[in-house]
Amino acid sequence: MSLYEKAWQAILARIAAAAAAAGRNPAEIRLVAVSKSFSPDAVRAAYSLGQRAFGENYVQEAISKIEALSDLPNIEWHMIGPLQSNKARVAAQRFAWIETVDRLRIAERLAELRDPRAPRLDVCVQVNISGEASKSGVAPEDAVSLAEAISRLPRLALRGFMGIARAGSDASAQREQFRALRRTFETAQSRGVRVDTLSMGMSDDLEAAIAEGSTQVRIGSALFGPRA
Ligand SMILES: *Cc1c(COP(=O)(O)O)cnc(C)c1O
Repeated sequence: MSLYEKAWQAILARIAAAAAAAGRNPAEIRLVAVSKSFSPDAVRAAYSLGQRAFGENYVQEAISKIEALSDLPNIEWHMIGPLQSNKARVAAQRFAWIETVDRLRIAERLAELRDPRAPRLDVCVQVNISGEASKSGVAPEDAVSLAEAISRLPRLALRGFMGIARAGSDASAQREQFRALRRTFETAQSRGVRVDTLSMGMSDDLEAAIAEGSTQVRIGSALFGPRA
């Protein structure tokens, strides 16, 4: 087994164990492999194991990888870093998902710029669940109304919510932050907003995220190794 295969199998095993502990079906939890700072060859190796969804934080870096890997059918690119308005056009054209929508203006731009012949652009509202002023994401109290507004835009498919727990949180603090995001998700559903995705959990906190209902984990270093 290659190093990547070992790491990939280990992540799938962690997801399965966390799902079992929560009485959940692991098939409900999608793995997004976060390839930021790693080469196209690393993505290709993960793809050859069966991984299809990849996350990138920087539009420029993503585009060169997307171009280098355009021969791989059904590869699915997720934008998971902060999105600047001046990158909205290329992001709307090149990604399948934008997980970091945190204001209506950028959602409207993406809706305008998405090719009407392409499938709808899947989007998540990023919510600032860590309470750190330096972090992106809409404030939790504004998340549901933003989601409602986005759900009415053309060419976008609102999928749900994304959050990042504070680095260095212990397990109970991780659970608390993820639980708050799950409540946002449930509030949206109870108001009739159609959402199916709760994107939360990274290498260091995927167990807490799955315990709180995550349907999409974003894993970088545990899969590809430490970033330079
Ligand atoms: C880098 C990053 C990840 C992956 O983090 P790891 O700790 O390497 O698993 C997940 N989500 C976002 C938004 C990131 O920026």
